[in-house]
Amino acid sequence: MKVLVTVKRVVDFNVKIRVKSDATGVETSNVKMSMNPFDEIAVEEGVRLRESGTADELIAVSLGTAQCQETIRTALAMGADRGILVETDTELEPLAVAKLLAAIAKKESPDLIIVGKQAIDGDCNQTGQMLATLLGWPQGTFASKLSLSGGTANVTREVDGGLETVSLTLPCVVTTDLRLNEPRYASLPNIMKAKKKPIDTLSPEDLGVDVTPRLTTLTVEEPQGRQAGVLVKDAAELVDKLKNEAKVI
Ligand code: AMP
Repeated sequence: MKVLVTVKRVVDFNVKIRVKSDATGVETSNVKMSMNPFDEIAVEEGVRLRESGTADELIAVSLGTAQCQETIRTALAMGADRGILVETDTELEPLAVAKLLAAIAKKESPDLIIVGKQAIDGDCNQTGQMLATLLGWPQGTFASKLSLSGGTANVTREVDGGLETVSLTLPCVVTTDLRLNEPRYASLPNIMKAKKKPIDTLSPEDLGVDVTPRLTTLTVEEPQGRQAGVLVKDAAELVDKLKNEAKVI
């Protein structure tokens, strides 16, 4: 069984985001970049399937600039067998990513594609759903548990009212939620071994996909700073302030 996981290079979740002075986006130069956290969970799930013998090949795919190689290397150090980089300097929207991944899926014929539920930079939460639709495959989104047996994937999903378990026929697309697993750190020997694992580089043209953006970002602004709070001496003063200053009661 072949498993494909997607790994996006994003601004590290610990970094305080700075908006560019011309309000066109967020600053990414000289900023620590890392694998999208939901994609670390996708890689971990793929590695566990590989280690249990359920999967015999795990491929990590990233799309973007040449630096995405580093993100693929991290996935290889965690246990993926090989990588595919689709290299482009064009800013990729989820539909373009989904089309590129669909083209790779047609070449590679994986049985399972594990995608993060959301990239923490754009917060789109669209790629996995679009990919499943383009391929005409079933999808299990926001997975908190995945089990595979005999051509079927059972996916437990975190939904508003609790947990829902769906049964999907392979091949299918699964998107990861936070509680699916706890991703491992790559050990130093595995980081060294990963340097020798192969990464194929393709272009969007090789895959026959037009990635021209369809959306225009009008403006990106910082949220308004919060005002300092005040201490009140008793409940009466609090009620007075809520009524006469904040005018919320
Ligand atoms: P989004 O729909 O943008 O929130 O992204 C959802 C998931 O799609 C991410 O967690 C990744 O697994 C995958 N994805 C999106 N963009 C890329 C990319 N440029 N390279 C690799 N994977 C991506």
